[in-house]
Amino acid sequence: MFDQIDNSFTNFLPADPIKENFVRQVKNACYSFLEPTPCSNPVLITYSKKLAMELEISEEKCLSTEFTQYFAGNKIYPNTNPYAMCYGGHQFGHWAGQLGDGRAINLFEALVNDKRYAFQLKGAGKTPYSRSADGLAVLRSSIREYLCSEAMYHLGIPTTRALSLITTGDQVWRDMLYDGNADYEPGAVVTRVAPSFIRFGNFQILAAQNDETNLQKLADYTITHFFPSLDKNDYLGLLKEVVRSTMSLIVEWERVGFVHGVMNTDNMSILGLTIDFGPYGWIDNFDPNWTPNTTDRQEKRYRFGNQANIAYWNVYQLANALFPIIKDEKAIERILDDVPQMYLNLTQSMKFSKIGLPVLENQNLITDLDKLLYQSEMDMTLFYRNLSNYTHETKESHISSLADMSYSSHFEKYKNAWQNWFQDYGVAMDNNFDADRKKKMNNVNPKFVLRNYIAQMAIDKAYQGDYSLVEELNVALTAPYEDNEINEKWFCKRPDWAKTKVGCSMLSCSS
Ligand code: AMP
Ligand code: MG
Repeated sequence: MFDQIDNSFTNFLPADPIKENFVRQVKNACYSFLEPTPCSNPVLITYSKKLAMELEISEEKCLSTEFTQYFAGNKIYPNTNPYAMCYGGHQFGHWAGQLGDGRAINLFEALVNDKRYAFQLKGAGKTPYSRSADGLAVLRSSIREYLCSEAMYHLGIPTTRALSLITTGDQVWRDMLYDGNADYEPGAVVTRVAPSFIRFGNFQILAAQNDETNLQKLADYTITHFFPSLDKNDYLGLLKEVVRSTMSLIVEWERVGFVHGVMNTDNMSILGLTIDFGPYGWIDNFDPNWTPNTTDRQEKRYRFGNQANIAYWNVYQLANALFPIIKDEKAIERILDDVPQMYLNLTQSMKFSKIGLPVLENQNLITDLDKLLYQSEMDMTLFYRNLSNYTHETKESHISSLADMSYSSHFEKYKNAWQNWFQDYGVAMDNNFDADRKKKMNNVNPKFVLRNYIAQMAIDKAYQGDYSLVEELNVALTAPYEDNEINEKWFCKRPDWAKTKVGCSMLSCSS
């Protein structure tokens, strides 16, 4: 399947000397070798045709028993040694010590057309980092991870990818809402693909162990393989790059209404990728206070509108971890001090692009809009996508149509404010005429996003043995900016029944 296996991570970095697979604290090592736990009856549910094409794996290969065996963890690819990574992290603002790949197992890295791809199974059994958990994943969360990874990619947002979704034939015991109602659910394995799965936490754990030698090795490895434009030893440059890509990732999430849900430092990619799709969600009505994660219901630390603050907090933790090798406190401070302004520039330019205007001096246009969208409980996706059709001639009918895009029963209350906003918007449009406005807007305002209830509908059907909706979405998400039949079908408000349904608005970390 792959001509060029190149296990750079394990070749370059120190391994845990213990080979047995039992739960333990691992010191002075970046990973532990182990083998996935075979499952009883692996069945390929779906795979990403686009990713398979990129990887030059033919359809015939993808549908072969061999493919399913490799990517269910039942067979080890020749000349490779699977491993779990050691990392730590801050969970919900508190240092949690060693975490690590508790249910992720890295298979190998392959070079395809000079690009590096690391392959990782999620849900293929226990590792030394599983703590008291089982190393498994249930079908519902695997469907969510599979679909959302690929949806993100096609939205043009940096993300880990998903190659395949395989059911294991084994049952997994889960208390979905942590309310004492545990039950068996079907198990599944997702094969994730990314240039690297290194997280902030990989650096943090070495810093916490005062293991400067390996901290430096990991930074050297990261620079050499993923930041070739940086000089060797330019650890400050590395931090700067990670800060930039992380903040820009958050702005991309804001652009499409994505809420990660668990932005712990162990869930932050060093490459600025969206990683670890747990209790994530997409906002329907524009509500910066919304979080899908029930575990975070009280504090709402990871709410939509707080993601930039948290990213800032997280890069601060990364800076702390890198300090022993950067050694220049002032230089680190300068990078961190620049973050708020950097974020502001990025988010403003993103928000103006969503309304089809260049960045204007007058910020009211975007700040008033955020306020109005929130107050009038406007559906974010519908509002922005429809905005590209707005003209002076359609002003009144456009404003009237807003009522249908709102979830508020008091929409009338905001009609005047909307009139005023569109008045200002019209003037700004005239002053900044752009013949390509509609096209440009439709390239930043998706027509299709994987709303929570849509994914849940696919899951509900799958639990009855019907994967047709998973397959339908697998196709829909490949062209989120297109006006096509399938996107038209899903281009509507969240139905009432989904407002409080488990899986649609409420998700826990149990997966
Ligand atoms: P996350 O949900 O990504 O924030 O996971 C936090 C930590 O818990 C990571 O170290 C995971 O590998 C680990 N973890 C989560 N679920 C499981 C599971 N079912 N079995 C083993 N480890 C898990
Ligand atoms: Mg995680």
